[in-house]
Amino acid sequence: LNGYVGFDSITRQIEKKLLKRGFQFNVIVVGQTGLGKSTLINTIFAAHLIDSKGRTSAEEPFRQTTEIQTVSHLIEENGIRLRLNIVDTPGYGDQVNNENCLKPIDIVVLKKLSEVVNVVPVIAKSDSLTMEERVAFKRRIKSELAFHNIKLYPYDSDELDEHERALNDSIKQMIPFAIVGSEKNVVIDGKSVRGRRNRWGVINVENEQHCEFVHLRDFLTRTHLQDLIETTAQIHYEAFRSKQNGIFAN
Ligand code: GDP
Ligand code: MG
Repeated sequence: LNGYVGFDSITRQIEKKLLKRGFQFNVIVVGQTGLGKSTLINTIFAAHLIDSKGRTSAEEPFRQTTEIQTVSHLIEENGIRLRLNIVDTPGYGDQVNNENCLKPIDIVVLKKLSEVVNVVPVIAKSDSLTMEERVAFKRRIKSELAFHNIKLYPYDSDELDEHERALNDSIKQMIPFAIVGSEKNVVIDGKSVRGRRNRWGVINVENEQHCEFVHLRDFLTRTHLQDLIETTAQIHYEAFRSKQNGIFAN
């Protein structure tokens, strides 16, 4: 009788329950055809797929993009299962001419999207830009997004501790992530790595000096996965529902 109730086992109970249930992560990729959406998703996840619904081969699981489609994948790491639902979209901006700027249609779509999902902008194929161009393009996108008051994930919150706040600040600084995707390996210094060859040389997708792919991947799959899932469920779904209710009430 030492006053020990034993409720501290609740963490183990929660863990057991969550592990049994598994986790689900929904990703929707949006942008023009040929931008590199499918390649990016493959670069992040393909190596970890153990099962993709409706396909026999994981060879090119995210390839077709002729219509909006959801492909469900099961990923497993150290006994933890993640159900990954990828919504690949046909290029929504395909009708508009493709200049290197944020077109009005992007703003409209981003604004709508940011009301219902966590928006994480990326600069695709950043290997096609010089470092100077990258910096300038980033600055321009940032100011456009700010000008149009588009709320990006991660959001400010009182619940964050010092470490989380610092991490979020560095992510906000970096956004939009300038990434390079590749489904092929190249040999750099005798090592085979995910990469691309272009007119300037060889790019190692996972080298932070070359691009920000690693930052994006770690952000999505390591540091913010749980928060991304929870935020969608709590903030966006509630906002969506109250809007729907508003429509029904009218
Ligand atoms: P999607 O239509 O947006 O899904 O585009 P894809 O992922 O199918 O990519 C279109 C083409 O761009 C393919 O030939 C890819 O190999 C190429 N590509 C994808 N990512 C990159 C990248 O980061 N850099 C370069 N240079 N090419 C890329
Ligand atoms: Mg595609």
